[in-house]
Amino acid sequence: MKIHEYQARELLAKIGIPVPPAQIVESAVAAGQAFAANGFPVQVVKAQVFAGGRGKAGFVKLVQSAPEAQAAAEFMLSHRMVSPQTGPEGIAVKKLLIAAAVDIAHEYYVGLALDRAKATASVIACGQGGVEIETVARERPAAIIREPLHPLLGLQGFQARKVAIELGFSGKHVNVFADILLNLARFFLQHDCSLVEINPLVCTKEGRILAIDAKVNFDDNALFRHPHLAALKDDSQTDPLEIRAAAANLNYIKLDGEIACLVNGAGLAMATMDVIQLHGGRPANFLDVGGGVTDEGAIEAFRIILSDENVRGVLVNIFGGIARCDRIAAALIQAGREVGFATPVVVRLEGTNVEKAREMLSAARHELPTLQIADDLNDAARKIVAAAGKSPSAAALTPAQ
Ligand code: GDP
Ligand code: MN
Repeated sequence: MKIHEYQARELLAKIGIPVPPAQIVESAVAAGQAFAANGFPVQVVKAQVFAGGRGKAGFVKLVQSAPEAQAAAEFMLSHRMVSPQTGPEGIAVKKLLIAAAVDIAHEYYVGLALDRAKATASVIACGQGGVEIETVARERPAAIIREPLHPLLGLQGFQARKVAIELGFSGKHVNVFADILLNLARFFLQHDCSLVEINPLVCTKEGRILAIDAKVNFDDNALFRHPHLAALKDDSQTDPLEIRAAAANLNYIKLDGEIACLVNGAGLAMATMDVIQLHGGRPANFLDVGGGVTDEGAIEAFRIILSDENVRGVLVNIFGGIARCDRIAAALIQAGREVGFATPVVVRLEGTNVEKAREMLSAARHELPTLQIADDLNDAARKIVAAAGKSPSAAALTPAQ
């Protein structure tokens, strides 16, 4: 689960990480008023969206008067933010942070993330903050400092001081930075984070160390242990279909092709998408209905898939193991009756009771005329790509010759 910068700043402030004072607003007028009320000569207006790269996109702006703050806010609230971390369609901005600006002497990157290769969390730090860490990692990997956490003891004081020195801190700054890093590592472990990132952590001209941006992601599987964190969730930034799918326990990710997939198992779903591509189609989604496909799950899956207007055909690829093929066939037929298959649907089933399932689907074909049964996965992909090319919505989208 992602949270906004302003929420992350509040959490960091609570554990003693210095953060400039800030306020959250939802209108341009309120931004002007906040500027006046805060009373700092220079402030920064920042769009609150689940994507970075705001600075370069013009969605982090230093302002020196209330009218300037209002104008910056007006621009951000009326434009979608597009950055390398968003799609080309960008994200709408609903909330803005108005924070006291700081006089930056140096910017650092400091964060923690899961390090799968080391099977623990690692500190990631870099003396050149403020820029995209992915770019630094690609172009100058030696500039990135990594320090793995002990799986039981967490980050040790000597490790935090070592990172401080490698980053170039000296004198009293070594311990000031080390304390920040130790707090951050404790926070990461206590809250089951998958990512914590301060980019940039700055040293000001007066020698203060402050976090002026913050990103925190939590492991969804551990959220049940932190009910107060679940309350921070902002669904307005997530695709509504993905939210619906999550509520039905379906693993759904929308893609930009035209062949929808309904599959049980993530590996099978990926293989299915590959085979669709191999036969010249493009997957419209990734949908893993999981091991035990129920009637309700299948119906909701079809509703979700078919409410995507790009979809011109559905490939159902199910391996009936825990859920037997005949149960799945019954669920598919039920889904067809309830939702109505307006687009071609090709079904490939394999596994326990497959013969019975095929008989059931064949018997239902008069009710569901767009349904086809495939012999194997290649046959299924070939059939759905051909059928989708001929489906009425596809013809409507093809310009007349
Ligand atoms: P991001 O681009 O989405 O990561 O947004 P950030 O909050 O990291 O801001 C981007 C950049 O704006 C920072 O790296 C700084 O260079 C600059 N910036 C942000 N806040 C301040 C501030 O208070 N003072 C100054 N001088 N620059 C700031
Ligand atoms: Mn940043």
